[in-house]
Amino acid sequence: MFLLPTILKIEFFIEHLTLRIHPMKKHLSLYLLCLLFSGIAYAQNHETMVDAIVQEASDNSQLELLGQELMDGIGPRLVGTPQMQQANEWAVKKYNSWGIAACNEKWGEWKGWQRGITHVDMVHPRIKSLEAMQLAWSPGTKGKSVSGEVLNLPVDLDSVAFQNWLPSVKGKFVMVSMQQPTGRPDENWEEYGTEESVEKMKEARTKQATAWYQLYQTIGYTGRTLPIALENAGAIGILSSNWSRGFGVNKIFGAYTKKVPSIDIGLEDYGLLYRLVASGVQPKINVRADSKFNGNVPTFNTIAEIRGTEKPDEYVILSAHFDSWDGGTGATDNGTGTIMMMEAMRILKLVYPNPKRTILVGHWGSEEQGLNGSRAFVEDHPEIIEHTQAVFNQDNGTGRVVDISGQGFLHSYDYISRWLYQVPDDVKDEIKTNFPGSPAGGGSDYAAFLAAGVPAFSLSSTSWDYGKYTWHTNRDTYDKIVFDDVKSNVILVAILAYMASEDPEVTSREKIVMPTDKRTNAPMQWPTPRSPTRLGGVD
Ligand SMILES: [Zn+2]
Repeated sequence: MFLLPTILKIEFFIEHLTLRIHPMKKHLSLYLLCLLFSGIAYAQNHETMVDAIVQEASDNSQLELLGQELMDGIGPRLVGTPQMQQANEWAVKKYNSWGIAACNEKWGEWKGWQRGITHVDMVHPRIKSLEAMQLAWSPGTKGKSVSGEVLNLPVDLDSVAFQNWLPSVKGKFVMVSMQQPTGRPDENWEEYGTEESVEKMKEARTKQATAWYQLYQTIGYTGRTLPIALENAGAIGILSSNWSRGFGVNKIFGAYTKKVPSIDIGLEDYGLLYRLVASGVQPKINVRADSKFNGNVPTFNTIAEIRGTEKPDEYVILSAHFDSWDGGTGATDNGTGTIMMMEAMRILKLVYPNPKRTILVGHWGSEEQGLNGSRAFVEDHPEIIEHTQAVFNQDNGTGRVVDISGQGFLHSYDYISRWLYQVPDDVKDEIKTNFPGSPAGGGSDYAAFLAAGVPAFSLSSTSWDYGKYTWHTNRDTYDKIVFDDVKSNVILVAILAYMASEDPEVTSREKIVMPTDKRTNAPMQWPTPRSPTRLGGVD
């Protein structure tokens, strides 16, 4: 942290000023002194407000209750599912119960889908229930169990051999993912393996991955088009395994099949089936996959606000996407960002009910499919976007915030430093700042605002193995939430929102001169606004 202690600066300045008061300019100097003293009074008010925020966040935290109701009670929030709408309604009710005005604003429509049970059992050569889950938007088995042999995609096919092989998938379940040579994460190998065995495993894996990649190239299909070719050839289900390189963890994304179920099988069980097929045993499985398509359904952003008193048409925006993938319960992506912003709003309403500027929170729908909710909000609300003081977005897991970048705003140091100065040391000690930073990157909703030139900042968290263990995985559940860290983030964002709201100055939107791209030698471009997908998943 490189923050100048403002109060010390003011005191130093007053000392000098008092010594230099010229008789003729006395009234002007007194005026200046008054201004400065009122500055100190503001600083003292800041302290009182900061203390109240910290106290409420610490003594009366609602985070565990919010987390339990949202993650356990409602569950994952895939766009277009009834659970997403249930979450929208829950959030509005919560805000209303805290005396905060809130609404669900429709921004588009999505293919409606409802997940039912997935149950997969190996029934030959022995009985074993498998760890399995339909991919999002997978067709089901129409209320029945479907049985069949399992087949794998032979890695040595060329395009002619593939066409000859294709009819053999009729009536079978087809495995389309590479079998992982190990279910141990690399760091586990590195801790216990000999150098030689680690090397050997990695070489074998690279060789296998290359062969798998070449297979798809040779037969002329992609991960997206192959499942469709297989179902058209009569396959009764597609089995895949998207290992996330940690113990027992897979990523669960969307299906591409239109008629038959697409099912992710956990690494261990996928390997079991794969080895049985390879050894000549023809394993058989029973699959029951329930799911329902509900036509096109409306999609919403949940918006809540505490109206400003002095400058109600200027905004400070708290931002976190509400939707999730549905392998787990979206606990760290982005349940934690969601409950962090809700809790900050609850506290602000309690201790700072009459903000100078309006404090608005956006719980965006369909971030996962391309920042759709936030892009729609930016497109639909130019009047807000034009007068937004700052946006604070959090979306990379449950950890304490450790990085804040100026995102390419030339004067971001001035205001962010001013605001961060009021944050208690134990909350900000680990935060690295990077000013003026750059607008590049943009993997979450702040990018929708940045593209419109709005000072929008990503509050970036420490990892807790987010990418490997929880991001888009079947293990992204309540038990992974680190509440102490989320609480610390609540205090941080509540204070930043308060300071941004109170700031006598409007934030500068002046951008940096964009650096030259090393490869093309042309200047890099500031990101430009993109329209959201307003009708999604519909064929
Ligand atoms: Zn996310």
